[in-house]
Amino acid sequence: MTAPTHQKARAMKPGSRRPAKELCSECGLCDTYYIHYVKEACAFLNQQMADLEATAHHRPRDLDNPDELYFGVHQQMFAARKTEPIAGAQWTGIVSAIACEMLTQNLVEGVVCVQNTKEDRFQPMPVIARTPEEVLAARVNKPTLSPNLSVLEQVEQSGLKRLLVIGVGCQIQALRAVEKELGLEKLYVLGTPCVDNVSRAGLQKFLDTTSRSPDTVVYYEFMQDFRVHFKHEDGSTETVPFFGLNTKELKDVFAPSCMSCFDYVNGLADLVVGYMGAPFGWQWIVVRNDTGQEMLDLIQGQLETQPVGSGGDRRAAVQQSIPAYDKGVTLPMWAAKLMGVVIERIGPKGLEYARFSIDSHFTRNYLYVKRNHPEKLADHVPEFARRIVEQYQLPD
Ligand code: FAD
Ligand code: SF4
Ligand code: SF4
Repeated sequence: MTAPTHQKARAMKPGSRRPAKELCSECGLCDTYYIHYVKEACAFLNQQMADLEATAHHRPRDLDNPDELYFGVHQQMFAARKTEPIAGAQWTGIVSAIACEMLTQNLVEGVVCVQNTKEDRFQPMPVIARTPEEVLAARVNKPTLSPNLSVLEQVEQSGLKRLLVIGVGCQIQALRAVEKELGLEKLYVLGTPCVDNVSRAGLQKFLDTTSRSPDTVVYYEFMQDFRVHFKHEDGSTETVPFFGLNTKELKDVFAPSCMSCFDYVNGLADLVVGYMGAPFGWQWIVVRNDTGQEMLDLIQGQLETQPVGSGGDRRAAVQQSIPAYDKGVTLPMWAAKLMGVVIERIGPKGLEYARFSIDSHFTRNYLYVKRNHPEKLADHVPEFARRIVEQYQLPD
């Protein structure tokens, strides 16, 4: 039997400039012979969300349904948490629990996930986990660009036929584009939302400018109470209000890929587990199709659930934040804390908080693409994002 043509392609060397140039999010595809498909598959060279959504979920996103416009194709959304959280997970460990169960129940033979290197807890190290222990070793976010797809060559070479891939939007877009070439019988995709990601160097700058003790941070998250929560090695928690972040310094910290990304909610995963549409302390579950439901069913017995809610009105806050971000305004800490308290009391909650976050990031990213890559604007912004951005008045 002749080998597929992509196997003759040459993976790129580490550190070399990728086809998407500065917009590359280091998804890992170009580290493999699947680089053969990069022109069609790369999320930054060929935006094809609508086609890929229709294929993955067997129907397109209904842009006239306000929830689908924002959160993508879905069968149901709700809030959940594990009754017995996994220690050391990012939230309560729903992602890791599903992956472990899929291996234990033999639904899949391997799980693409990302551990960290021995030397650096935030340096991502993608692996194909074959045991629950290896999945658990990948728990907690590595809040940096991660080449998750760099292990794809090993999938084909080791003859795996049933695979779970855990990943963020840009990785999953490229994965869906090459899905047919992987020789799999069944692919399961478990996604997380993702925004404002950074290179490892960018992460250090963020920690150095924002935390009181950058070297001891083991975990952080931008939470629904409008604060960044840091957890330190000694178990202590530090919170910093969003409005007090040093926006001037941080403006250049986010990777150009992430300043140009409109797949915040991971529209192509079968099942998405985040937090942004859920009450504080809960996880947000979006079941996109039957495969996603099948995955979720495996751990229903481990979950406490509640319906998603929505409260407040985000629009004025988003509109006001656009010029403030644009000019790099940073409030003094006392004013930032006060603003955080006020917004937390009267501001957007639940799904409205998720819309607040999507609107703020999409307007910012739209302006970024318009100013830095005007030639890409027309093709790169998906229709759903364009409709969301059109609700606001943007500076030139
Ligand atoms: P765990 O059980 O701890 O498992 C985490 C999983 O994430 C692991 O399987 C690991 O393989 C995978 N992972 C870790 N780092 C990466 C990475 N860099 N790239 C790809 N996969 C990775 N949710 C929101 O609602 N809003 C957000 O803005 C948001 N931003 C995120 C940004 C990043 C970079 C990441 C990785 C996640 C983000 N999430 C966001 C998702 C959220 O932080 C949690 O990951 C999710 O709710 C799952 O929590 P858990 O306790 O179930 O995960
Ligand atoms: Fe290649 Fe992925 Fe970078 Fe695109 S984002 S150039 S597919 S590594
Ligand atoms: Fe990829 Fe978008 Fe996340 Fe950046 S923000 S890592 S481009 S999914």
